[in-house]
Amino acid sequence: MTESYSRRTRLVHAGTRRSQYGEMAEAIFLTQGFAYATAEEAEARFIAAGPDEFVYARHGNPTVRMFEDRMAAVEGTEDAFATASGMAAVSGALLSMLKAGDHVVSSRALFGSCLYVVEDILPRFGVTTALVDGTNLDQWRRAVRPGTRAVFFESVSNPTLEVIDIAAVAAIARAAGALVVVDNVFATPLFTDTQRLGVDVVVYSTTKHVDGQGRALGGVICGSRAFVRKTAEPWLKHTGGAMSPFTAWLMLKGLETLDLRVRAQAAAALGLARALEGHPAVVRVLYPHLPSHPQHALARRQMEAGGTVFGLEVAGGKEGAFRFLDGLRIATISNNLGDSRSIVTHPATTTHQRLGEAARLALGITPGLVRFSVGLEDEGDLMADITAALARV
Ligand SMILES: *Cc1c(COP(=O)(O)O)cnc(C)c1O
Repeated sequence: MTESYSRRTRLVHAGTRRSQYGEMAEAIFLTQGFAYATAEEAEARFIAAGPDEFVYARHGNPTVRMFEDRMAAVEGTEDAFATASGMAAVSGALLSMLKAGDHVVSSRALFGSCLYVVEDILPRFGVTTALVDGTNLDQWRRAVRPGTRAVFFESVSNPTLEVIDIAAVAAIARAAGALVVVDNVFATPLFTDTQRLGVDVVVYSTTKHVDGQGRALGGVICGSRAFVRKTAEPWLKHTGGAMSPFTAWLMLKGLETLDLRVRAQAAAALGLARALEGHPAVVRVLYPHLPSHPQHALARRQMEAGGTVFGLEVAGGKEGAFRFLDGLRIATISNNLGDSRSIVTHPATTTHQRLGEAARLALGITPGLVRFSVGLEDEGDLMADITAALARV
């Protein structure tokens, strides 16, 4: 119904289903199951449930379905399946399509838990994996082979903000018959058009920008109807990674304001990143839309804006970074991102601690690197806060 409307309109209206009461805000169907009028109806629904028919909340729920339909409309995919967390989406998308003997190629610069799935979990089930430098197309070409069932990467990597050429990697994957699975968290559904670039399956941690207010864990898998309903759904409904109806309601509310929030956050991130380049206590600033970014031209082409997160390498290594973190008054030390509150993270000692120093350095996660997720506070206040904290370094 909302297909012809622009994304701003779809973010507010797509997927809405009203009950007989005509409620304005989406209803939260806090129910585990659904009653059938007759035994015949129960039998029929177990054979094939219609679009507004549900059998059990682990398989689907009206509030969750509203969120799935809205996400699919926003991403431009045929369908979507909502999950309990971003990692349930990542692991569900990969495990549901793979079997022993399959081969997966993935970029090495990944969120810690994504790397664990690719490096530790998949091989235990007989799936071989190859890790490549995602920004190097020759490495993708050499690693993909007959039997490569999927390629997987973060379109913008966490926390080093490397940008991967989606269209080029997708072309390499397609030539080998592999599905393209992209974790698009940092680019958000707004800034990178994954469907135009040839992505088959898009996963999000909706814990990040979609909720955007630090309230709930969630995830979603977006793709073709065949992939979502015939591959991902059977896996997820039988292994139990379903999103709760209450969380789906929070995510629906989050989508309504996603465009306004994320654009404001990205504009402030660009302003801060620009202003901090050349600061004497800053060794380098990482932000996809800064001309100094190694994939700046690609980032301009592939991303409408540079995202809500920038990286800051503070002078003085870990000690400098800690003095900076401890000196901030507005930005909070935590490990979420995309939140309405600014959040600062020291990846080397928290999110990427498990990797060990050599692996961290190979990925560019230096002891002085700080990840700054820009919230909705006033940009001038944030700049003053950052400048005051940098004075302590
Ligand atoms: C946070 C994050 C995840 C995991 O999401 P959860 O909701 O915490 O399970 C996966 N990928 C990326 C890029 C993330 O930032």
